[in-house]
Amino acid sequence: MQHPEQKALPTHSLKVCRGAVQCPHAVLGGDLSSELETVLAHSGWAEFLNGKVHPLRHHHQFRIAVSSCPNGCSQPHIADFALIAAARIGLAPERCSGCGQCIQACAENALSLQDGIQLDPSRCLGCAACTRVCPEDALYVEQTGYRVLLGGKLGRHPRLAHELGFFSLPQALGILERVLCVLMEQYRPGLRLGDLIEQMGREKFDATVRP
Ligand code: SF4
Ligand code: SF4
Ligand code: SF4
Repeated sequence: MQHPEQKALPTHSLKVCRGAVQCPHAVLGGDLSSELETVLAHSGWAEFLNGKVHPLRHHHQFRIAVSSCPNGCSQPHIADFALIAAARIGLAPERCSGCGQCIQACAENALSLQDGIQLDPSRCLGCAACTRVCPEDALYVEQTGYRVLLGGKLGRHPRLAHELGFFSLPQALGILERVLCVLMEQYRPGLRLGDLIEQMGREKFDATVRP
């Protein structure tokens, strides 16, 4: 039983990497805490969970993580809902001098120089490291946004979050709103988002929350 003077646990946790303030790897800086907290407050999650679970323990919390680049220092793959800032890379092959600096900078082997500069989108994580080293602007950031990850958790049955896709910030916040709504509709004490996704089936869940 909780002691009357013991501070109640928050109903969610929010982990943000230092890229929100300053990190040379950040694709998108800026602290999204207030935007995410606003969605949580409007959803009624805190009142809902406090009405359902007594006493509230850490594993009941809804966990959110934000990483400002694909390095994932805030552990987005084990959060219920996570955002990873990422870039879509544009190519201007006519400007490429063939220096090879981008090939050295890409940790994913996503670039090649056969018949001019080529990018394999299936390997690219959108870290933008290649654009920082290209002296000719032959690789550039075409669009920035967030990869949205859902349903990660540790515990007795760990699950790595799966990726819903690449979205703008307003779209990502809308996804969070719908995720919380579905979770509250289906909730029973102890249910984590990853469990719900497995029960519903990933495709059905994704179709329910996708913009
Ligand atoms: S996730 Fe990327 S931006 Fe954030 S602290 Fe780690 S390396 Fe820096
Ligand atoms: S953004 Fe550039 S460096 Fe990063 S994974 Fe994609 S191709 Fe490689
Ligand atoms: S760094 Fe730029 S100029 Fe050099 S090979 Fe890559 S795309 Fe071409």
